[in-house]
Amino acid sequence: MILPLIEKAKGLGFISLGVSSAETPPFFDQFSKWIASGRHGEMRWLERHMEIRQYPDRLLDGCKGIISLAYPYSNIRPGTPDGFTAARYTEPKKDDYHKRVRQMSRALSDIIHQWYPGTKSRVCVDSAPILERSLAYASGMGFIGKNNTFIIPGYGSFFFLAEILTTAPLPVSETAPMENKCGTCTRCMDACPSGALDAPFSLDAAKCLSYLTIEHRGRTDRLTGMKMGRCFIGCDMCQEVCPYNQINAPGISEEIMLPSTGEILEMDESEFSAVFGKTALGRPGLNKIKSNILAIRSLGTARPG
Ligand code: SF4
Ligand code: SF4
Repeated sequence: MILPLIEKAKGLGFISLGVSSAETPPFFDQFSKWIASGRHGEMRWLERHMEIRQYPDRLLDGCKGIISLAYPYSNIRPGTPDGFTAARYTEPKKDDYHKRVRQMSRALSDIIHQWYPGTKSRVCVDSAPILERSLAYASGMGFIGKNNTFIIPGYGSFFFLAEILTTAPLPVSETAPMENKCGTCTRCMDACPSGALDAPFSLDAAKCLSYLTIEHRGRTDRLTGMKMGRCFIGCDMCQEVCPYNQINAPGISEEIMLPSTGEILEMDESEFSAVFGKTALGRPGLNKIKSNILAIRSLGTARPG
């Protein structure tokens, strides 16, 4: 049943699918230690529900397995006419990926319900306390790089992960978890503009520009602006330099042109809501985005990137 399921998933736009058991995911201990070390910034929600992260089957009565799914986003950075950029995963011209990927995942879970009548499922797209990269790793889909992203060899890492917990008796993927394939490469750590990747597989989230420009509440300061280059929201530098994301990797290449940063700075809440309200930019909101832009523009000439 797994091959037909993979075909259905590909038909819905997913690039990869794997099934793991609902047992404690690999790297749970490392995650616990990371939380204990306090390197998760102000993302306090990561501290909660540790027992569910350890035992994901508690999210669904009778859970027999977890399907991991990868859904691609464009490998080209969205840009503005005045030379600024946004991280690829923000996809600022599309509805927030949480909604889109959830719809696709639900379509797949409906197919599973037809194949296994009477079974139940639960779709997670950043919506449950679950170690999604660890589960994807356990399913054999790919490996976790030194930059902490999930990498599928032959594709790269420009995709979102989602999960379907299911009571259907799907066979767990026979592919063994993939050993790390970074070798001696340290490009991501060398390229990180903030020093957040201070050791392989280690992230100081409080220093990470993805966190500071999206999750972190409050004004974005000049020091952060110096590290941002010309990318005014998010950061994907550690993915951009990764050899697994280089030009021979397949993927979707959609050019996205945004309003200029001057136009964004002049927007009020209702204009912002009309242009970006349904997109992932709605999460940080207009004030945070303006603060990010001002942090870069306050420097005069920002470094490229
Ligand atoms: S997203 Fe940017 S700041 Fe964060 S670890 Fe990667 S390169 Fe560093
Ligand atoms: S840039 Fe190199 S070290 Fe970093 S994740 Fe990619 S292959 Fe691994």
